[in-house]
Order: sequence, then C-alpha cells, then structure tokens
Amino acid sequence: MGLCERLLSLNSYKIFIIHIVFMCIFCKIINGELPSYKVYEDENNLAFLDIAPVNPGHTLVVPKKHYENMEKIPAADLQSLILAVKKVGRLLKEKLGVPGYNISVNNDPIAGQIVPHLHFHIMPRRPGDGYELWKQGEYKEGEAEEIINKLLS
Ligand code: AMP
Ligand code: ZN
Repeated sequence: MGLCERLLSLNSYKIFIIHIVFMCIFCKIINGELPSYKVYEDENNLAFLDIAPVNPGHTLVVPKKHYENMEKIPAADLQSLILAVKKVGRLLKEKLGVPGYNISVNNDPIAGQIVPHLHFHIMPRRPGDGYELWKQGEYKEGEAEEIINKLLS
C-alpha cells in the first residue's frame, strides 16, 4: 500500500495525533492550538513573546501562512511581514521605553533556525544588558576578491 492510501485509511483519531505531533509549532500558535503572549496581530502576521527571551520583550514576528524561510515567502507577504516587524519595533520602543532593538532572522538550520517557519526576532536593547553581537573577523589575502567574483559571476 502506498503512503497516500495508508494515510487515507487512517481514522480521524490517528490523523489528529499525527497533526498534533508533526504540525509546525508556530502554525499551532497561529491556529490557537498552543498558547502565546500575543504582542501584535494583523491580517497576515502575528507577533508574540519568545518563550526563552534573550532580553525581556524579545518578540517573534511570523507570517500566518507557513513559509519555511526567506526564499519561500512571496514578495507581497514579505513586504507585509517587514512592515509588521517595523510596527512591533516601534511598539517595543514606545511601550517598554527601550532605546533600540536588534532584528534577526536565523535562515536555515546552519544559521541556527530551529523552528522551520520563517520568523523575525526583535530583541529590545537596554544599556548594559550584556547582549553580545556576533564575532567579527577579517579576510585572508585574496579572499574578498574570490567571494566578490563568485557573487558577481
Ligand atoms: P530560531 O532558532 O530562530 O528558529 O528561533 C526559534 C525561537 O522560537 C526560539 O528563540 C525559541 O525560544 C522560540 N520558541 C519556541 N517555542 C516557542 C513557543 N511555544 N512560544 C514562543 N516562542 C517559542
Ligand atoms: Zn508553520
């Protein structure tokens, strides 16, 4: 029996279990199946507090439709998403009184993406909060030229 026939033969209880176990955690939050501290919502996007904050007020902004990463989201939905990010950033500044924030996307597992549903992290910054940015390095001889040649070829 093929996979499709097997799935079709499952009863609704088994389908429910599969859904609970395998469905994306952020889709579950969007559908109201999992709780969240909602910060902002519009037609296309939802923002909620990160469960393990880098700083108090650390917020995730997600499109309501499931897109795995930046390559998958269509331009119109990305435009809407980035405008939602901007609104949430302003909200954090205005309501929490923070002087600034970092915006970050971990795009793909190699970049630290754990939840495969595109999301922007907005992390409020306060003086002396101890949050460290990524380590910077330097190019070896000829390396920048090699990179730029590949990028422009
Ligand atoms: P990333 O590593 O970019 O995929 O980040 C995923 C983020 O989702 C992490 O910062 C987690 O703390 C956060 N997270 C995971 N589960 C939940 C949840 N149920 N509610 C809120 N944030 C969550
Ligand atoms: Zn999802």
